[in-house]
Amino acid sequence: MIRERIGTERAEFVPFNCVADFYIVNTCTVTEKSDRRSRSLIRKAKRINPFASIIVTGCYVERDYELIKSKFPDVLLLFNNQKKDIAKYVIGEKSINQKSKEGIDSFSGRTRAFVKIQDGCDAFCSYCIIPYVRNKIVSRNYSDIVEEVKRLVVNGYKEIVLVGICLGKYQWGKIKLAGLIKRVAKIKDLERIRLSSIEPQDINLEILEIMGGCSKVCDHLHLPLQSGDAWILKKMGRRYSLSQYEEIVYSLREKVPDIGISTDIITGFPGEESENFQKGIDFIKKIAFCRMHVFKFSERKGTLASQFKERVKPEVIKERSNKLMQLNKTLQNNFIQQFKGKIKKVLIEKEKNGFFTGFTGNYIKVKVASNKGVEANCLLDVKIVGIEKEYAKGEIISSLMR
Ligand code: SF4
Repeated sequence: MIRERIGTERAEFVPFNCVADFYIVNTCTVTEKSDRRSRSLIRKAKRINPFASIIVTGCYVERDYELIKSKFPDVLLLFNNQKKDIAKYVIGEKSINQKSKEGIDSFSGRTRAFVKIQDGCDAFCSYCIIPYVRNKIVSRNYSDIVEEVKRLVVNGYKEIVLVGICLGKYQWGKIKLAGLIKRVAKIKDLERIRLSSIEPQDINLEILEIMGGCSKVCDHLHLPLQSGDAWILKKMGRRYSLSQYEEIVYSLREKVPDIGISTDIITGFPGEESENFQKGIDFIKKIAFCRMHVFKFSERKGTLASQFKERVKPEVIKERSNKLMQLNKTLQNNFIQQFKGKIKKVLIEKEKNGFFTGFTGNYIKVKVASNKGVEANCLLDVKIVGIEKEYAKGEIISSLMR
């Protein structure tokens, strides 16, 4: 969202591979791989234009400021997560003051707009570095969020995604997440509200009611499981049991029949024996997720799990990760299969090689043949007719609106 804060009217944005005056490297530190990638991007920027100003921001800076500073002494600026300050250095403070309102008006090249409503986490799962690098839980001003969504809708966005580290912890005065969704849903011409991810323990009756009762709320939820084995789950310090998780999934499916439930899974957590892994696979199959993101355990210094001794061999982690990714394909196909012959609304995002792709509310990626009047940001009625790799193939039934 740094691009949106700077504004396309004040700077020309080019792909990272091109020569530029400024390079902004927005880092992540969730795994060792993310750290390596961030360092390699800084080196790449220096190679492309040795005279450019390189700005590095994000969680890796928050966690390892001194290390980055010593490795890259000529990096212009290191910012923690106060990304709005970066614009000051790229375009000058005067321009920032002229834009007095807080928030974002548009997202270049996208049909979905992301609205950050909350930051921080205090759950301290044993493997996770985020609570150490982000602030305590902070929720954004309710009126600012509503105003930002109104502006995005005026600028043509039909779908907004509410994002945060722990979305379910949103609270502004007496208003919690469900109250915020209710208010945002009243905004005229907004078609869809998508929730990025909610921790299982934060799903409550109000959220279930609004997901089931408000047609604007997408029938998709990302519900991080992390492990389907009870013992590993406990060692991870997650705040729910497998039976509680199952109960939540059951309630969601009861309220929202077409719901797609996706998840995150970590494999190779210290102490994960083949028995634990197999139990995890069985639970994943039982839940029948619509998709899952698979992560290999990555030691983050300073976390509790970094002190756990029973390490899983890298080759075993790789093999398990491959098995999970294979299972993910099956889960995706099984989920899409349920909707064959049904009509779903698809928000068209982009065109490639004579086909348009877009997503249903329950997050099935649908591919339709180019057609007169079809373009990005159209909301269409599409009949699902088949599956092609991770896509559903669709036939357009009618064009609802532009
Ligand atoms: S809830 Fe998520 S962000 Fe918070 S500590 Fe656990 S994994 Fe990290």
